[in-house]
Amino acid sequence: DLKDNTIIVVFGASGDLAKKKTLPALFGLYRQSRLPRDCKIVGYARTKMDREEFQKRATAYINNADNNPDIANSIEAFKKSLTYVHGGYEDSESFESLNKHLEEIESHYQSKECNRIFYLALPPSVFIPVAKNAKLYCHVTKGGVNRIIIEKPFGKDLQSARELLGAVKQYWTEDETFRIDHYLGKEMVKNLLVLRFANIAMGAAWDKNSISNVQITFKEPFGTEGRGGYFDEFGIIRDVLQNHLLQVLSILTMERPVSFSAEDIRDEKVKVLRSIPPVERGETLLGQYVSANGKPGYLDDETVPPDSVCPTFAATTLWINNPRWEGVPFILKAGKALNEAKVEVRIQFKDVTQGIFKDIARNELVIRIQPSEAVYLKLNTKTPGLYTRAIPTEMDLTYKRRFTEAIIPEAYEALILDALKGDHSNFVRHDELDVAWKIFTPILHWIDGLEGPRPHPLPYPYGSRGPKEMDAYIKRHGYKRAEDSYIWPMTSVA
Ligand code: NAP
Ligand code: NAP
Repeated sequence: DLKDNTIIVVFGASGDLAKKKTLPALFGLYRQSRLPRDCKIVGYARTKMDREEFQKRATAYINNADNNPDIANSIEAFKKSLTYVHGGYEDSESFESLNKHLEEIESHYQSKECNRIFYLALPPSVFIPVAKNAKLYCHVTKGGVNRIIIEKPFGKDLQSARELLGAVKQYWTEDETFRIDHYLGKEMVKNLLVLRFANIAMGAAWDKNSISNVQITFKEPFGTEGRGGYFDEFGIIRDVLQNHLLQVLSILTMERPVSFSAEDIRDEKVKVLRSIPPVERGETLLGQYVSANGKPGYLDDETVPPDSVCPTFAATTLWINNPRWEGVPFILKAGKALNEAKVEVRIQFKDVTQGIFKDIARNELVIRIQPSEAVYLKLNTKTPGLYTRAIPTEMDLTYKRRFTEAIIPEAYEALILDALKGDHSNFVRHDELDVAWKIFTPILHWIDGLEGPRPHPLPYPYGSRGPKEMDAYIKRHGYKRAEDSYIWPMTSVA
């Protein structure tokens, strides 16, 4: 339930995430009347600014390109719920004065029971002191709830993740902690559960008997563009594969949960992840983009060390050792500076029994997470006319066409609302993170040079589909591309 008398404290409120995601999402919820009644938002960071300046920053990324007066009015009203406190992250005095500010707001609430949500939009170097100080100095004790929302990166490998999570756990219970992986807030990722478990036709084909291989792909059409400093320390595997794509994989492959309750779902996710052995070096392909068509290469980014071997592209194959999935390759691939923006799951089914058809295309179920949500099944059909020939076509569900009136919520809106309601289903549980790191830590240590010389990524041109070795890699793992036989006739929507 949403609780009245709630304050949301955004730590790191001067930063990028707060400005671009957290505060606009709070506004979105406010506008849809989804925030608790009389909810107040308090920004906190070291940067000195007055309330007005914060209100301006906090609303700078709210999209109102058409100057819609209705939205403009909502923005003005929303601003009234915003206040700002500046202070340090490590010292008790700062948190005592933050607490005073919170108590002052709460003194205007009718009821004595007050709730506080602490959102850490901060770099990991200050996670622990802020988690600690928020608990020691700002935790409400008078019967209300306290919750903490934290964001990746949750460590750099198994060891550091355990240290970080362990430190936060000293102060915050699992029940109070909401670890964001924003992919879990995406509409199409949430739809996976419904597609799988509400359709007997899908369920029947969802195993090694029908499926040949699965690709989960993330493609971004731009590079680090001057913001490579942070990225270079982490690389594409930590940035995308180990968290976002692995989350998608676990929902795609888990067994049917006993119910849709948070713990039932997360129990099944952990179970399937535990069936995945650590990723192998030999099955991993790394790439780094180089300058092409006037676009800069990764090493041209001045914030990146000139000899960096950090991968900006990676593909790797995961195997699930359980009876449903034994032998099916799950290829996770992600890259920056590629030819297009898309995140999709591509499930390729096996060949039909030989004998009647020659060179017939395989069925593929594509679940496009972004942009333009869609689910389509590539399906062979008789070519219309007085002869019998099969042609690959599609059964197509494009959200924009099918749900013309629907407004798809931003991932952060959906997640913050869940946290306000206390629903953990779409947040990452402690043990889930632990297994996720177990799968990727050996390969990350190899890439980081902790086990010998660092591997050199394969170069690929900015704007290409990735390293040229990729197509042979995918083929080796069973993917059959039906050359030129599939034509998508529409251009207007997708
Ligand atoms: P950011 O802008 O670098 O940092 C947020 C704020 O934290 C800054 O405005 C700064 O505020 C404070 N800060 C920065 N460096 C600090 C340091 N070394 N010591 C103490 N305080 C420091 O980061 P962000 O992009 O907002 O991201 C915040 C967190 O969310 C990070 O963990 C990031 O990995 C994660 N994340 C970000 C995005 C995104 O879209 N940006 C997406 C997913 C996850 P003051 O100096 O005013 O205190
Ligand atoms: P596709 O873009 O042709 O990609 C199919 C697969 O082949 C992907 O694994 C892709 O890898 C790979 N591939 C792409 N170009 C290649 C090349 N030159 N050589 C070797 N491999 C290549 O996707 P599709 O599903 O067949 O659809 C074709 C077009 O129709 C797409 O533009 C799609 O958006 C559109 N369509 C849209 C809808 C809809 O909006 N509802 C429905 C059906 C089709 P990478 O992903 O790694 O590049």
